[in-house]
Amino acid sequence: EKALLSVRGLKQQYPVTEGPLRREVGTIHAVDGINFDVYRGETLGLIGESGSGKSTAATALLHLEDPTAGTVRFDGDEIGEYDRTERKAFRRRAQMVFQDPTTSFDPRMTVGESVAEPLSIHGMTDADRRRAITEDILPRVGLSAEQADRYPHELSGGQKQRAALARALILNPDLLVLDEPVSALDVSVQAEILTLLSDLQAEFDLSLLLITHDMGVVREVADRVAVMYLGEIVECGPTEDLFRNPQHPYTQALVSAIPTPDPDAKKRRVTLRGDVPDAASPPSGCRFHPRCPAVIPPENYDFEQDEWRSVMDLWVAVSDDDVDLDSLRTLVVAR
Ligand code: ATP
Ligand code: MG
Repeated sequence: EKALLSVRGLKQQYPVTEGPLRREVGTIHAVDGINFDVYRGETLGLIGESGSGKSTAATALLHLEDPTAGTVRFDGDEIGEYDRTERKAFRRRAQMVFQDPTTSFDPRMTVGESVAEPLSIHGMTDADRRRAITEDILPRVGLSAEQADRYPHELSGGQKQRAALARALILNPDLLVLDEPVSALDVSVQAEILTLLSDLQAEFDLSLLLITHDMGVVREVADRVAVMYLGEIVECGPTEDLFRNPQHPYTQALVSAIPTPDPDAKKRRVTLRGDVPDAASPPSGCRFHPRCPAVIPPENYDFEQDEWRSVMDLWVAVSDDDVDLDSLRTLVVAR
């Protein structure tokens, strides 16, 4: 079977409560029925704006928090039906790396102790052996064995993220779920960590689910990309196809926002106005429609009229402050 991870109909809902009695007044549909696979040895990029449900999808699919609905298969078996032993094996085989390397380490533990912690949790009682394995893995993430005796505050952000990768890899997993692994780092350090990730992927034969809001990052490392919007996946495909020929208007807007050295390309840039709507009361129909440049056929509108402008102002602006109507037409018609 090609898919290591198969996610079907995954939903995660949270109650919206009010007042001291926490009366339930609504439901947040944080993840609302998503489907995707992560194939063996590939990197799937999961991209979307803040609040689109990326982190929720990650914790739900790993059953760090039980999902409201849906099935997740890992290596053919359904995670929700694991017994205790199987769940423990899964906890070894699928690891998660978080955004902020500062908060993911206990400041009172040495880096080596933190990196080795999963070994203790999974029953390795021999401290010398843990130490040996730790000293072996640190150089593989670009740290020195001596850095095992340092404390987290003595490492830079990039070094801490390297240590976080060492900790995630120490149990020799098959799948890494990385939630914004480079967002907290300087751009130059981001590139180093992304290169390291690709190297580690080959060396450890890993499948990666890489969560990010940065199109540059997915373009760099992902084989395929899934685009999330307000709890749903609106588009999924091979990275090059998605960048060259995005199908969904939301993806088109994301792609158009990537900085490009081509001066003509600037004219086609579409910036989405407003935030992702409240996940407790998502728009009816297509969830993207209140912000979608393609929602109203341009031929139905007199572009000079205020009515059109006010509608347009709600959801779209073309790169320059003045709305460039030609490029908006191009974008809509190109679809
Ligand atoms: P970001 O890019 O900011 O990390 P995200 O795509 O990871 O965003 P999530 O953190 O998954 O988004 O949140 C999705 C939605 O679910 C948001 O509306 C958020 O407020 C809501 N949400 C997430 N966790 C909870 C929770 N424990 N209780 C209630 N609502 C939650
Ligand atoms: Mg998140």
